[in-house]
Amino acid sequence: MAQEWAKAFYRSKRWLTCRNAYIKGRIMEDGGLCEECHDKPGYIVHHKKPLTQETIIKPEISLNHCNLEYVCKDCHDGFEGHGIGGGSRPLCRFDGDGQPISMREVDRR
Ligand SMILES: [Zn+2]
Repeated sequence: MAQEWAKAFYRSKRWLTCRNAYIKGRIMEDGGLCEECHDKPGYIVHHKKPLTQETIIKPEISLNHCNLEYVCKDCHDGFEGHGIGGGSRPLCRFDGDGQPISMREVDRR
């Protein structure tokens, strides 16, 4: 699933440390529920701004808790590149820069 160029990142200590810290924070917050549906337990730490070969080397994107979201597998499968537009309501939208934003953020605006 991970792109070839992303594999080293996902195995890196700094990512695993960042990810674990994020999950720990979520568990303290609400027991580690999915941040999208607040129903199922989180499963994947998702990058809201997707990782590309450019952003992966920028810690302010790849390792920034503000860019992370703890989601269950179902919600993650609905994100970009995993079957978008399956339901009546789009699961994510794109902002002016073409970056996907979650519907939760759209609702907040
Ligand atoms: Zn979910």
